[in-house]
Amino acid sequence: GSGRRGLLAPRASPRGCVRPSGPALLFVKTSPGGEGGRRFYACSACRDRKDCNFFQWEDEKVSEARLAAREEYNRNHQPPFTHRQNAERYKNFVLLPLSKRRFCQECQQLLLPAEWEKHSDHQFLCDISTAQLRSPSQLLYPLENKKTNAQYLFAGRSCQFLLDLIIGLGFRRVLSVGTPRLHEMIQSKASQEEDFRVRSLLLDIDFRYSQFYTEDEFCHYNMFNHYFFGGEAAHETCRKFLCQENGERVIMITDPPFGGLVEALASSFKKLMAMWKETGKEGHNSQEMPMFWIFPYFFESRILEFFPSFSMMDYQVDYDNHALYKHGKTGRRQSPVRIFTNLTPSMIVLPVEEGYRFCAICQRYVSSGNQHCEICNSCTSKDGRRWKHCVLCKKCVKPSWFHCKNCNCCALQNHTCEKTDAGCFVCGKAGHKRSTCPSLSHT
Ligand code: SAH
Ligand code: ZN
Ligand code: ZN
Ligand code: ZN
Ligand code: ZN
Repeated sequence: GSGRRGLLAPRASPRGCVRPSGPALLFVKTSPGGEGGRRFYACSACRDRKDCNFFQWEDEKVSEARLAAREEYNRNHQPPFTHRQNAERYKNFVLLPLSKRRFCQECQQLLLPAEWEKHSDHQFLCDISTAQLRSPSQLLYPLENKKTNAQYLFAGRSCQFLLDLIIGLGFRRVLSVGTPRLHEMIQSKASQEEDFRVRSLLLDIDFRYSQFYTEDEFCHYNMFNHYFFGGEAAHETCRKFLCQENGERVIMITDPPFGGLVEALASSFKKLMAMWKETGKEGHNSQEMPMFWIFPYFFESRILEFFPSFSMMDYQVDYDNHALYKHGKTGRRQSPVRIFTNLTPSMIVLPVEEGYRFCAICQRYVSSGNQHCEICNSCTSKDGRRWKHCVLCKKCVKPSWFHCKNCNCCALQNHTCEKTDAGCFVCGKAGHKRSTCPSLSHT
């Protein structure tokens, strides 16, 4: 519809509205004409109405029949096994000889021999090896829901880079929030290499992972509303993990879906940071939990709004299953995805082999194409290309832009001079809506 949708608060919705994904979020719809705006609840995980039609005005009376229908819906959308049951099943699964280890591709489930019958007309994989069990992200289909649940898995090179960086910085515990591939790389090394001391706890909404990890290694979690599906016990698991026993330092790494609301994510991450702070005896009272938030560069100002201590690194994060988000060096498209961190930028050493260099003035590693601008006194490129300084705008702009006298700012040469009040919800720029934001267009 018209008008903008703003998030008010991740707040528990009224009775009967707890989704399978945890409490709904409270939004406000503001009309362009503007008074007040009407408040409504929507599901926090499935913001595409096609996937989850949950919607309720804040002041709406809901009939008993509708409540019953919702409860029924929630029951039907519960996973077939609990995490505890899945952990038990896994123990039995690994005892099976290779010839009896099957994975149902339709149900995305490891099968025990007694269950084969039920899945007889489903496609399945046989001879599931220990190596395959250690890499569930290769076994499971990446989820594909466009807006919120799309899973973009790190390319091997980016995943290895992140892990080397974490180890180089001296961290021994990684809170992996929506980073199953990084988690599996860590857990896999830990189970195979005697002297590998890093541990990871995965928090993710994708419950399929509960088949491969114990309750100490994976918590079913919704990062839009900071909801632990496993209740107080899961909370406690996370809290314990964040305790820096024996001086084992913790870092949180997160790679949320890009369609995700920055303010909802920021609010959850602040709660995770608070959990970390509470566990600290002394020493880090005034500090923040170290964090890497992996997100596209065009969200920079939004992220800094919520986390002023963060800065954006030039490193381009590559993905396996994303045609556009791959590294530029080999003629492929450049990735817009970056690392935002509250660590000192000069400590984030980027690979020289990939063209990154250290700018002594900015005290950080930058892309090869990123030139230090004398006037801005900073390396200003956001996308890796060389940007140019516009004296009228008093800042550096994209190489393809020109200063437009009508708009009184720099823009593409063939832009239509017009002023729209409401900027895009994603990038904040005028002239288009969130649904057609060029920043998010990937096919
Ligand atoms: N690059 C990462 C994956 C990022 S894709 C890697 O390779 O490890 C985004 C991840 O966030 C997915 O694993 C997805 O399941 C998870 N996710 C999506 N919505 C979520 C939510 N609301 N709460 C928690 N995790 C979520
Ligand atoms: Zn099946
Ligand atoms: Zn510089
Ligand atoms: Zn400049
Ligand atoms: Zn200009």
